[in-house]
Amino acid sequence: MTEILRTIAEVRAWRQGLAADQTVGFVPTMGALHAGHISLMELAKGHATVTIASIFVNPLQFGPNEDLAKYPRPIEKDLALLKAAGVDAVFLPAVEELYPTGASTFVVEESVSGPLCGAMRPGHFRGVTTVVLKLFNIVQPHLAVFGQKDAQQCAVIERMVRDLAVPVEIIRGPIVREADGLALSSRNVYLGAEDRAAAPLIFASLQAAKAAFDGGERDATRLAAIGLAVLESDPRIKVQYWDVRDAQSLDAISTMDGHDALFAVAAYLGATRLIDNIVLPRP
Ligand code: AMP
Repeated sequence: MTEILRTIAEVRAWRQGLAADQTVGFVPTMGALHAGHISLMELAKGHATVTIASIFVNPLQFGPNEDLAKYPRPIEKDLALLKAAGVDAVFLPAVEELYPTGASTFVVEESVSGPLCGAMRPGHFRGVTTVVLKLFNIVQPHLAVFGQKDAQQCAVIERMVRDLAVPVEIIRGPIVREADGLALSSRNVYLGAEDRAAAPLIFASLQAAKAAFDGGERDATRLAAIGLAVLESDPRIKVQYWDVRDAQSLDAISTMDGHDALFAVAAYLGATRLIDNIVLPRP
C-alpha cells in the first residue's frame, strides 16, 4: 500500500512510526511520472528498506515566463504508478504549507549553479536547492535519488549536501530513454508530431561528439562544435547551449584530459525546452 501524506505533520508522524533499523530512500519529483522516474523508485528500493516519493510542482524553480501553469499534473495516474512500483509513501505537499506567507529564507549554491541551465534560467537552482533542503528536513531520508537527466541539478545538490553537511546520501540514477534515444521527460508530452520526430537529434548530437572523442579528439571546443553542427542541421531545433564541462564542478574545460567530462545540451523545439547530456569518464 502506498500511504498518501499531504501535510508536514503527516510525514513526521509516518517517519516516527518507522522502526529504528529502517532506512528511508527518498525520490523527489514534480509528477507526470514516466519510466525514468520509476527507475529512480526502483533504485531507492534497492538501497533502502522504505521508500517515499514526493510530487510537488515547485513554483520557486520556475521563471516568470516558464510553464508552471501548464505543467502536467495527472495525479491519479501518478498515484497508480507509484502504487504499482511498490513505493511505500508519497508526500503531496501544498504550496501554501511549503512556502508560508512571508517565507524569506532561501538556499543558494553559488558556483555549480552558475553555467548552463543556471545561466539560462535565473533563480532556477535557488528554487531547487531551497525546496530539496526543505523536503530533506521534512522527510529526513537516509538517501535520496536524483536522475542524471538533470546532471547539473545532481551536481548542485551534491555540492549543497557537502557544503552544509546535510546527512543524506545522494544517489544518481542513469537516464532512461525512448527506443530512438530521446530522454524521457514530463515535457515530451508538449511535443507535436513533427517536433517529436526531430527530438532524437538531441541525443544523436551527443553521440556524434562521443564518437569523435572515441576516435581520439580531446579538444573540448572542437567536440562541442561537432555536436552543435549535428543539432543545428535541423531548423526546427533552436539550440540554447551545447557545452563541454567538468562533470563535478561544471567548470569550463579546454581539454578532455584529466576530467570526467559532461556533454550537456539544452534546445527548444517550438516552445518546448528539452535538455540531455552524457558523461565521458576521463581518458
Ligand atoms: P522531475 O519530475 O522532472 O523534477 O524529475 C524528478 C526526478 O526524475 C529528477 O531527479 C530527474 O532527474 C529524474 N528524471 C527525469 N527524467 C528522467 C529520465 N529520463 N531518466 C532518469 N531520471 C529522470
